Amino acid sequence: RAKEKGRNQFKVFTSRMLENAVEQLNLENDMRSALKDGEFHIEYQPILLMGTNSLIGFEALARWNHPTRGPIPPSEFIPMAEDSGMIMELGQWVLENALKTLATWRAQSERAKDLFMAVNLSTRQFAKAALHTDILATLEKTGVPADRLKLEVTESAVMENPESALRTLNILRENGVQFSIDDFGTGYSSLTQLQRLPVDTLKVDRSFISRLGEGDDQESTEIVKAVVAMARCLDLSVVAEGVETGKQLDSLSRLNCECVQGFLFHEPLHDSAAMDLIAEQESNPVPEDFRKRHFQ
Ligand code: C2E
Ligand code: MG
Ligand code: MG
Ligand code: MG
Repeated sequence: RAKEKGRNQFKVFTSRMLENAVEQLNLENDMRSALKDGEFHIEYQPILLMGTNSLIGFEALARWNHPTRGPIPPSEFIPMAEDSGMIMELGQWVLENALKTLATWRAQSERAKDLFMAVNLSTRQFAKAALHTDILATLEKTGVPADRLKLEVTESAVMENPESALRTLNILRENGVQFSIDDFGTGYSSLTQLQRLPVDTLKVDRSFISRLGEGDDQESTEIVKAVVAMARCLDLSVVAEGVETGKQLDSLSRLNCECVQGFLFHEPLHDSAAMDLIAEQESNPVPEDFRKRHFQ
């Protein structure tokens, strides 16, 4: 009996596994048509200077609204797109559309000309030798100056294939494109490796920020403090991502963290709401010293 029961459990297990696999395949297939069927859009999350709350840029975040399943989070579809190779198409689509949006804002508002657009690059995209050619062509096509594009890369994306990734980064950097290291603190890059990367900004991972409020987590405080010091030493900008509470903001302010991004300020916005924010920010310009330091 026990054996039978065990066998049945095994069956249930495999059929669920099969179901999951089928579901995954369906979703992967759906994704192929989703792009051209207009199921994807981009939301733009504001990035602000600490203290003045002056808007300095936006991070473009991909959104998939599936016709029957509703919204599917990036944590689900990005890994899938990486596995299937679709990330190349999706990544290019996000880049082009985010830059087109910025170009539209720039045409409507002087204030928008001081903003950067941050776009995430996945590990898999570095595998393409001509990545820099595609990116430069997209800048040219949309008319956005290269120094208004900030590509977000993770330490692991670069370290997985350091030779070719560094080559791509350097070519783009020579052309004026800026780079942030995303989710900083979760990878393993040493100071030496960091110094070799042509980056402008460190984005402190949300996991450290979220522990800042709670009973003043000493370790997270020390980590953020160290990242801020490291950034200053390397002449980089620092963004705290995922700021949700006033307590976290107080700690970040005490630690002299330069820039903030998070639900406490703004959730990712649709392009019209983002444009409204830009209009509101006409009376809150980007300070001259920041602009000089970060734009060419
Ligand atoms: P990420 O690049 O670190 O983006 C920041 C994520 O934190 C976004 O999640 C954003 O909505 C979320 N976030 C911002 N502020 C807060 C906050 O105060 N609290 C909390 N709990 N979350 C906050 P999202 O949009 O779900 O994206 C998740 C990840 O998916 C991104 O992490 C990025 O790695 C990836 N991703 C999103 N769009 C793209 C894309 O177009 N291309 C690539 N390659 N990856 C993308
Ligand atoms: Mg990012
Ligand atoms: Mg991030
Ligand atoms: Mg993150």
